[in-house]
Amino acid sequence: MPFSQPTVIRSRRVVLPDGERPADVLIRDGKIERVVAHGSLTVGDRELAAAAGPAALADLGDTALLPGLVDTHVHVNEPGRTEWEGFATATRAAAAGGVTTIIDMPLNSIPPTTTVEALLAKRKTAEGQAWVDLGFWGGAVPGNVAELEPLYREGVFGFKSFLAPSGVDEFPHVEAADLEAALAEQARIGAPAVIHAEDPAVLDAAPRQPGVHYRDFLASRPADAETAAVARLLDTARRTGARVHILHVSSAAVLPLLRRARQDGVRVTAETCPHYLTLAAEQVPDGDTAFKCCPPIRDEANRDALWQALADGEFIAVVSDHSPSTPDLKLLPEYGGSGDFAAAWGGIASLQLGLPAVWTEARRRGHTLSDLVRWMSAGPAELVGLTGIKGAIAPGHDADLVAFDPEGEFTVRASELHHRNPVTPYAGRALTGAVRGTWLRGRAVDTAARPFGRQLARPATAA
Ligand SMILES: [Zn+2]
Repeated sequence: MPFSQPTVIRSRRVVLPDGERPADVLIRDGKIERVVAHGSLTVGDRELAAAAGPAALADLGDTALLPGLVDTHVHVNEPGRTEWEGFATATRAAAAGGVTTIIDMPLNSIPPTTTVEALLAKRKTAEGQAWVDLGFWGGAVPGNVAELEPLYREGVFGFKSFLAPSGVDEFPHVEAADLEAALAEQARIGAPAVIHAEDPAVLDAAPRQPGVHYRDFLASRPADAETAAVARLLDTARRTGARVHILHVSSAAVLPLLRRARQDGVRVTAETCPHYLTLAAEQVPDGDTAFKCCPPIRDEANRDALWQALADGEFIAVVSDHSPSTPDLKLLPEYGGSGDFAAAWGGIASLQLGLPAVWTEARRRGHTLSDLVRWMSAGPAELVGLTGIKGAIAPGHDADLVAFDPEGEFTVRASELHHRNPVTPYAGRALTGAVRGTWLRGRAVDTAARPFGRQLARPATAA
């Protein structure tokens, strides 16, 4: 990382809430103090002399300055499955990828974050290991309704539930009665419900043909499973008044349901992920289970429809759903595995690559850095009630910043990523957009030095 602790960061392309322009960003005590005209602050100014510590200026030239990304969908897996991913490796990958805040999912750690005790165990494990700021989702599973309020008071950002089997035994999915009880409780305490929406009955009825052909796996997780689950969820949300968020929308067919529900006053938001926006079923090679996730990557026409929805503001966030495992569980042929899509672990590793992957496709489609920031910083910050703290270059916000070269090109080498396991469907892909430096609360993140990420609790004002 080329820059140490600056007091001023200058760039000809600062991405601000109202657009992109040349500016100087003045930082004090870890926060953005002011944003002023490009070149108007110089080291030696009285302003800077008054600032604590040695004043310094980082001039990025034409390299853009973005607010750090907020990734609200990350499976860290520690404690319990640290060999899949851990706090140190995940947060180092995040920092290298321009992500300065992550919110950890309640599974696939052991124990899952479904009790206060488990949350405290996770917090203790994460201590001193995080290179970026870190918060936690809780989990709503059958039988833990009484845990939700204490967990929410303890600072989790909301609760995740699965409507279909999660893939791990210790995090069971909710049936209709469990869902009703969980959403009623979450409506009562004001906590958002974040939901994996695939319908188990539709999945059970789908054709199941194991093997190395991606089209067989795709047929086993049809789009109807998403629409059926979302329809059922929206009914329950309508009845209970809960605020719901649909995780990782892969099928554009759910979008009309969300539009109608919003018109009826249901509080519903949705996210999609870099892999659904940048990869397509037609391109998945036989046996390349790095591409397997649930719900699955669908066809190119669906991908175009997701981009249209993104452009129309139908998604509040684009977040990674980083969910790695060890290569043996992926059954990857290059590790001696069978390449069987049906049996391989479903999850995509991409935390370090989300920003360049989405930017590569976004710029091709005529989108701007401001769009990128809305989808990957401001939107996810809003989802978890961190607006005003994270996700924008504006006075009073944490000085979480990324130097991003929008023209920088590189080819992904899985072995060079900070993820614990060198597996990603982006391996070998040429991407445009390179992270040149990351600052967390005004300090340059140096992954060779000691981490200084903080653990975040839900702000008390967030509903
Ligand atoms: Zn996930």
